[in-house]
Amino acid sequence: MGTLLQLELPRVQKRNIKLARVAGFCFGVRRAVEMAQQARHARSGNITSLGQIVHNSQVIQHLRQQGIETAEALSDISSGAVILSAHGVAPQVLQAAKEQGLDIVDVTCPFVSKVNRTAKQLIEQGYPILLVGDPGHTEVRGVIGTVESMGGSVQLVSHPEEVSALTLGKKVGVISQTTQLAETFAQIVAEVCRRVPDVRACNTICGATDELQEAAVALAREVDVVIVIGGRKSANTRRLRQLCEGEGVPAYHIETADDIDSRWLLGRRNIGLTAGASTPDWVIEEVARMLNDGDLPDDWNLHNPER
Ligand code: SF4
Repeated sequence: MGTLLQLELPRVQKRNIKLARVAGFCFGVRRAVEMAQQARHARSGNITSLGQIVHNSQVIQHLRQQGIETAEALSDISSGAVILSAHGVAPQVLQAAKEQGLDIVDVTCPFVSKVNRTAKQLIEQGYPILLVGDPGHTEVRGVIGTVESMGGSVQLVSHPEEVSALTLGKKVGVISQTTQLAETFAQIVAEVCRRVPDVRACNTICGATDELQEAAVALAREVDVVIVIGGRKSANTRRLRQLCEGEGVPAYHIETADDIDSRWLLGRRNIGLTAGASTPDWVIEEVARMLNDGDLPDDWNLHNPER
């Protein structure tokens, strides 16, 4: 009885579910998913995504049900159409896909294309590239490939404290993966400016990332705990969690409602919800229903980022 009473106590007061001002699908992810679906409708035969179109398993599963498979390497795709991810690919991969005779469906987000374009311009102007990004991320591999295809030099850095170990010349062009933290980018640029006389820094973080991050921080300041919904591999979701925790509240990254541990919510009345740029509305709503005894909260008003 004692244990039961303890578990029930936090539910005496109804939970207050507060949603971030914006959450979930950004422009680039929505566009990529819609382009993939249109490509499926327009073609017969195999259509395969090279890697995940977007970093969300539920979206990938949904697309698989519609007849779009995922392969990890071009060598696993023998025929038909190949979809290149929202995060882009290196020019060498694009060329290999063409040489293989595949029909190319390029769903690269325009903001990712802008990072690649900026890298090219800086190389043409004689600036070796310093890319702020996550090692191994699809977008980062694409940008490195772009620079290397021009014979340019590129170094990757993830944290400001790594700058002191880099070999830097008299000129550096600093750019960013689209989903980095603005603060990390600014700190790295500041460190580089201490060592290099000629620095060209281009902030290539996308507007949706900024908007999601600002909304997550504002949310974290108003609640007792934050649940951040998004794919395990989603870099921008991981950052949202990190930012919320930075505001001094516990923050948990989940992929679906099943991942919620009820102990996280004990004694917490105001529950914040946010979601990464590749999290579909239906997954966010499933989590909200689960937290709110089966129904969406009365004031439910889900807005995706606008920028
Ligand atoms: S997070 Fe930004 S760069 Fe990435 S897909 Fe969305 S809009 Fe494009």
